[in-house]
Amino acid sequence: MRTFALAIHGGAGTLVKGLMTPALETQYKEALRFAVEDGFKILNQGGSALDAVESAVIHLENTPLFNAGKGSVFTAQGTHEMDAAIMDGANQEAGAVSLITGIKNPVALARDVLEKSYHVFLAGEGAMEFAKSNGYKIEKPDYFYDEVRYQQWQGIKDSEEFQLDHSVKKEGKFGTVGAVACDQNGNVAAATSTGGMTNKKWGRVGDSPMIGAGTYANNNTCAVSCTGSGEFFIRGVVAYDVACLMEYKGLSLNEAARIVIHERMPRINGDGGLIAVDGNGNLAMPFNTEGMYRASKSSNGQDYLAIYK
Ligand code: ASP
Repeated sequence: MRTFALAIHGGAGTLVKGLMTPALETQYKEALRFAVEDGFKILNQGGSALDAVESAVIHLENTPLFNAGKGSVFTAQGTHEMDAAIMDGANQEAGAVSLITGIKNPVALARDVLEKSYHVFLAGEGAMEFAKSNGYKIEKPDYFYDEVRYQQWQGIKDSEEFQLDHSVKKEGKFGTVGAVACDQNGNVAAATSTGGMTNKKWGRVGDSPMIGAGTYANNNTCAVSCTGSGEFFIRGVVAYDVACLMEYKGLSLNEAARIVIHERMPRINGDGGLIAVDGNGNLAMPFNTEGMYRASKSSNGQDYLAIYK
């Protein structure tokens, strides 16, 4: 039987080990373990990579620990604007949403864009109309309220500053979330979901929902989900760059992912990381920050879960 595998991330950034309490670390690890086991179970039962990544990301969106879904950061207006994307490497179909509010699971809405619309990317009010017409419940703002996130926003509110959730050293909460998977048929898929950056304004959109930048999947090469300062990941067209190095240069997944994160991104001062899987179930999880919440599970028996380098 061919190797099948799944990896997830909960954000990359400046994670200062001493500032994380053991209790909080345990919570993060449990949340990661739960999500990775859930996604892997779907693969193990013969389910699709697309279903596995959606399900794993939904779990991560439902915990307040990560900057996605329930745990999304505050915008400059004190609201929550979320972005998400999902892509199926089998047929390169994709769905993405941006600047959406009140949606419990943005990745599910992205999947509906993939399946129920002719389009790939819906944003703002239009995306909300699409959600409502597909029967989505709109959660009240207090569903997304989180004291730590609120204090994080208070610290820079009314300033011109905006910040990557992960770069806050004073607390342990951060993390855009994502998943990549290769199923028993060798199909790959990727999904990414985020609340973006604290105090963001002007309709700022990061890399996460952008196909090719923060999310990409193609059976011929790989599936990729990125995390980090989105502006750099957009400029570097990072997820697609990994696939291009494999396709055009014949590099292995590991080598392609390493070059993008450790050679190309530093050239433009880009900080972050990615998770990736190829059609043979090989995994890569490079990052150039102090840490990245990550976990993976493969049918070859290898389980992995880590936060720091
Ligand atoms: N890449 C995301 C963004 O820029 C943030 C993150 O990865 O945490 O919106």
